[in-house]
Amino acid sequence: MTLSDKIKDVIRDIPDFPKPGIVFKDITPILSNSKLVTEVVDWFVEKGKQDNIDVVVGVESRGFLFGLLIAEKMGVPFVPVRKQGKLPYKTIAHSYDLEYGSATVEIHEDALKPGQKVMIHDDLLATGGTAMAAAELVKQIGGKVCNYTFLIELGFLNGKENIGLDNNEAIHSII
Ligand code: IMP
Repeated sequence: MTLSDKIKDVIRDIPDFPKPGIVFKDITPILSNSKLVTEVVDWFVEKGKQDNIDVVVGVESRGFLFGLLIAEKMGVPFVPVRKQGKLPYKTIAHSYDLEYGSATVEIHEDALKPGQKVMIHDDLLATGGTAMAAAELVKQIGGKVCNYTFLIELGFLNGKENIGLDNNEAIHSII
């Protein structure tokens, strides 16, 4: 069984969560299976090595679950991107549009060294708005986005097209 099939097997579709009309992909069953967690982490570590990344940037909050594990296994730093008002030190902020309203994410201003090559990691790619906002923060503090990694990519929402990858950037999704 491929890793993709194993994940498809355990994740749950939750209808009408968090709002009516949305089918939410629940990845929490992966977390109860430590062997599967290891396989998932190893899959991302391979992509990190392939693209030569120096730092993993994880997006709040489900991007933290595997983000730190990937960074630890690669022996590189982990940097959190959080919702506004959560990071304690000096921050850089970026706002982006949601379907209804807008959201703001932040990063610590000293979180990266100039030119560091970054993996942006989150559990799921939908429209790409969140990943693009994280990339914007990385660029503002001098980092270079090398790749974007996700467990799940919802192809029909065109996240990949919306992100509009530069030449040296890649997207890797397990399913
Ligand atoms: P985007 O900004 O539209 O690409 O949405 C991606 C963000 O929304 C990520 O941070 C995801 O964690 C979250 N998200 C959207 N839909 C789902 C879902 O079905 N399951 C889990 N997370 C989701």
